[in-house]
Amino acid sequence: MAERVHHFREIYGHYDKRGATEQAGRCISCGVPFCEWKCPVHNHIPAWLDLLAEGNLFEAAEMSHKTNSLPEICGRICPQDRLCEGACTLNDGLGAVSIGNIERYITDEALRQGWRPDMTGVKPTDKRVAIVGAGPAGLAAADILVRNGVAPVIYDKYPLIGGLLTFGIPPFKLEKQVVDTRRQILTEMGVEFKLGIEIGKDLPFDTLLEEYDSVFLGMGAYTAVTGGFPGEDMDGVYQSLPFLIGNIYRELLLPGAAEQFVDMRGKRVVVLGGGDTAMDCNRTSIRHGARSVVCTYRRNEDSLQGSKRDYQASRDEGVKFEFNAQPIEIVGDSEGKVEGVRVVTTRLGPKDARGRQVTENVEGTERVLKADAVVIAFGFRPSPAPWFADYGIELMDNNLVKVARNPHTPFQTTNEKVFAGGDMVRGADLVVTAVFEGREAARGILNYLQVH
Ligand code: FAD
Ligand code: SF4
Repeated sequence: MAERVHHFREIYGHYDKRGATEQAGRCISCGVPFCEWKCPVHNHIPAWLDLLAEGNLFEAAEMSHKTNSLPEICGRICPQDRLCEGACTLNDGLGAVSIGNIERYITDEALRQGWRPDMTGVKPTDKRVAIVGAGPAGLAAADILVRNGVAPVIYDKYPLIGGLLTFGIPPFKLEKQVVDTRRQILTEMGVEFKLGIEIGKDLPFDTLLEEYDSVFLGMGAYTAVTGGFPGEDMDGVYQSLPFLIGNIYRELLLPGAAEQFVDMRGKRVVVLGGGDTAMDCNRTSIRHGARSVVCTYRRNEDSLQGSKRDYQASRDEGVKFEFNAQPIEIVGDSEGKVEGVRVVTTRLGPKDARGRQVTENVEGTERVLKADAVVIAFGFRPSPAPWFADYGIELMDNNLVKVARNPHTPFQTTNEKVFAGGDMVRGADLVVTAVFEGREAARGILNYLQVH
């Protein structure tokens, strides 16, 4: 622990062959594989555990890729406690099989030993599909398309692929080398990347519609939710994503790092919010050498909705939590420099329309948490491009992109040539759900293009 808070390398222990095989052998192949049902991509978990336990590593890797385009990444960063492992029959007694760790091991180790996805049966077609966004949804769509002989070309405004995998999730959860390796594999499979190009700014959307047979949009959801209280624009108050991205620029030594990096060394940091992004900001601040890190959440500990593992890791690394604390103002000095966060204690009140208890402020409980820096991590709303309407791509009332849910052309937008998936369609969620939607949308595109 003392060592890990000083660097940004992944903190997970790595399995060796014996450890992974023993762990895989713990699966009792229960008649009803709840783990598969709970996994959003419906991985054939007991089947690849069996293959690994029998020593068939390459077959396990091939099978793992049948349902998941990024298994080594999901294995690292899925919140397994509320997905596959939470549903494992052994979770009630002996402890769940560590499915995520094994999923990661299978692909990492198979690639290390020279395995590559089997593309021998692929018959090329003359179809080309443009993909906007090199995040998990776009990468997953490309994976399915290229395996069906369609040539995907992925555009992204960033100079590197991955979307939030690269420019969001900190390296101690996902080292960027893992994303680089996936880029290499996809490139070898026939996926083309055109990076540093923002569609709608550097290249008009018309060009994609004219030059390609179909377009997939996997552009994410990036409008930061604000608190709506006074003081959010003070000097020393940061939004979570620019803070995390500045850190990644510095870790990857990218141009512009010096301007974007915010150093928390020696500071009293207060992080507002209780989701995965808040935990990432906590742990990044700790690694900078912050004097203290306090994380406020307006509900109680049991109501935390993010990954339990990331919350526990925050605690282990020295983050202090203030539960039932609602920020109502960021306070500062006469020059607008932040000095603290005024919070009020909350209690749970009646249930709202969604059945969740609303929080009520308790009178007379206001206090100020001292801070030299405040990070706001309240989550993200959709960020549809202003040009969608010009192309008949309709939105729902909440600004998510409207898509078809039929089995023939799932994820087709109201422009029949354009499909969409991931955070821009379901709202800010998870890597594995973006992968699922990218894969499903690609199946819709194959049907639309009549590629079979
Ligand atoms: P994104 O990953 O957002 O990718 C969208 C891509 O589209 C970006 O690369 C963007 O540059 C590109 N783009 C957008 N507009 C344009 C344009 N006009 N032209 C060109 N390119 C464009 N999920 C987990 O499962 N586990 C976690 O531990 C986890 N931690 C997270 C931590 C943080 C800090 C955040 C913010 C999210 C986290 N998530 C986590 C959520 C997860 O990262 C997202 O749900 C997932 O990345 C969504 O994938 P996507 O492909 O829809 O979008
Ligand atoms: Fe579990 Fe995620 Fe892997 Fe599914 S993709 S098996 S939920 S770690």
